[in-house]
Amino acid sequence: MTVDKQILSDIRPRFWERCALDEMTHREWEALCDGCGVCCLVKFLDEDDVHFTEYTDVACQLLDCQSGLCSNYEHRQNYVPDCIRLTPDMLPDMMWLPRHCAYKRLYLGQNLPKWHRLIGDEKTHQQGLARVGVARRCVSERNFNDEQIEERVIRWVKI
Ligand code: SF4
Ligand code: SF4
Repeated sequence: MTVDKQILSDIRPRFWERCALDEMTHREWEALCDGCGVCCLVKFLDEDDVHFTEYTDVACQLLDCQSGLCSNYEHRQNYVPDCIRLTPDMLPDMMWLPRHCAYKRLYLGQNLPKWHRLIGDEKTHQQGLARVGVARRCVSERNFNDEQIEERVIRWVKI
């Protein structure tokens, strides 16, 4: 996913406490993403129990591994057709998202993480991202084959 500072303008104050997920504007919906990049990692999903899902530190070909952001978010589906365009109705099947992800948390009736950019200052946001985000600790899938990816399972993503 991405962080577009434009999106942070023109949103209602604390909209996530005032309206349901399917009542948010496009900008508000996009503003919920903290830009951690975890959903852009290659993972092995367990359909029966998401807690057995295994994340790797191998990232989508479009992810900038330094910033942890999508390098071409607007046109991403031209290059990565199976990139998920998240909508509220998909969330019941998306419990493999990390536990800090705002979409998952709001769906589960939880608060945003305290360090989320919609709540705290930029420094706090960056500190939170440093703990959970993929920036500077992932590698691009361009450089690995399927067999090599299977060997790169990581444990620092918490579901
Ligand atoms: S895991 Fe959630 S918060 Fe992180 S980039 Fe994906 S959608 Fe955004
Ligand atoms: S195209 Fe890749 S890097 Fe961009 S948002 Fe989708 S999964 Fe993430």
